[in-house]
Amino acid sequence: MRRIVLVGYRGTGKTEIGKELARHLNVPFLDTDHLAEEQSGRTIDEVFSTDGEARFREIEQAVIAGLPARDAVIGTGGGAVTIPANMVHLRKDSTLILLTADPKVIAERIARAPRPPLTNLPAEEEIREMLARRKQQYAAAQDFCIDTGNKTTKEAADLILRILKTGVPTPAARNAGLVLFRGGRLPAPVLHHLAKILNNPPEDPKTRLIGVAGNPCLHSRGPGLFNALFKEHGLNYYYTFFEDPEIGRIMQQARALDAKGLSVTIPFKQSVMEHLDDIPDPAARQIGVVNTVVFACGKALGYNTDWLGVRAPLLGMKGKKAVLLGAGGVASAAAYAMTGLDMDVTILNRTPEKAKELAKRAGCRWAAWDTFDVLHPDLVVNATPLGMEPDIRSPLEAEQLYPELTVFDLVYTPPITPLIERAIGQGCTTITGTGMFAEQARAQFRLWFGIDLPATALRKYIP
Ligand code: NAP
Repeated sequence: MRRIVLVGYRGTGKTEIGKELARHLNVPFLDTDHLAEEQSGRTIDEVFSTDGEARFREIEQAVIAGLPARDAVIGTGGGAVTIPANMVHLRKDSTLILLTADPKVIAERIARAPRPPLTNLPAEEEIREMLARRKQQYAAAQDFCIDTGNKTTKEAADLILRILKTGVPTPAARNAGLVLFRGGRLPAPVLHHLAKILNNPPEDPKTRLIGVAGNPCLHSRGPGLFNALFKEHGLNYYYTFFEDPEIGRIMQQARALDAKGLSVTIPFKQSVMEHLDDIPDPAARQIGVVNTVVFACGKALGYNTDWLGVRAPLLGMKGKKAVLLGAGGVASAAAYAMTGLDMDVTILNRTPEKAKELAKRAGCRWAAWDTFDVLHPDLVVNATPLGMEPDIRSPLEAEQLYPELTVFDLVYTPPITPLIERAIGQGCTTITGTGMFAEQARAQFRLWFGIDLPATALRKYIP
């Protein structure tokens, strides 16, 4: 058995359902709030009112880091999942069940055991506000989700036991998924692994899928990177390829198989938006592109992490004069990141109308492709596919590059592109697309699991 960790807002039933589950499974029930009180020698109310929430979170963090690795059911405080360091410990070799309920129901339940308020709002409004603030963290902190609002403790515990035993996808959905995967171009070892997950009965019904959605997408570095991370962090997940000409079919299949998420790539980064229930990420809405889907409690949520991948290596270049080559999906994310760093950005694109359109939307300038030399920028970012294997062209000639120029090529296959090779030859500072890939994947990992790793922890798995 893996540890069963119950997460969710106060009043969703973690303690009572946790005790019931522990009794059934004949393992101990550990409650982190209770352990925090025991270890600090004070009640949570006392810690909150004398030392504040930050002190309570420190105590809670120490308790979570010290939880035993043995079989147990663990109940967590409602805010525990908001601290990424907690998620490393809570997720390791564990199955996380998010308990939810309507705010009205939660308000009625917690009125019986009042705690110091977290905001100045009336009780039910406070719950709505806190659930909205923690929406992303709760989505990340779950392998399975149960609405306890209309269930008794026993009904909820029975449902959890059933999910632990059978998983969520129906046998028919598992069969259909396997047939679709077998009909594609997936390599034999991948199909073999999928068969272990989807056969009836599956090897472990709790194993969940994540994948790259694209057409084609078999060249993706995602499986190598994420499967290594899943192993390192004790996550019962398998990252695979969802390759199909229709994004609608991919989304349908991912939902039926109870996938946890998708990395979305060419050509679906815009069309996927029609298939989502919500885009809670303001950056994704502004950029107009979704490259990450998180499935949580039956909903498909859209995010953009590409812009974070562009932003991270450029943090030291605030306010610089920049040229952005390209006006497609990734260029839109790059423009968002660069204008956010107060750069003076000019967009150059093969099709000038698209440069104009993106410049208007992103609040920057645009110009004809051949004006690069006149602009003489501090930074150039390549967001075109030029230089991506097997294309060996460079968007700029060696004579157009100079030592004061920083060259950031978003293309990452090959790791050293023709543009980067020329830039090195001309004495420029260079940033490769691998840096962006690692940073955007780091943000995806955080969205799916709530764990925030340093980019170096991902770089070691990227060839
Ligand atoms: P996209 O939406 O198809 O946009 C491609 C852009 O490149 C368009 O502006 C297009 O111009 C331009 N372009 C295409 N072929 C060209 C050519 N032969 N000469 C000049 N311009 C050309 O693609 P995307 O999703 O933005 O992706 C762009 C590149 O970003 C990818 O190829 C990939 O290498 C890279 N990328 C990197 C990462 C990473 O993590 N490092 C992640 C995603 C993507 P028109 O408007 O004239 O068609």
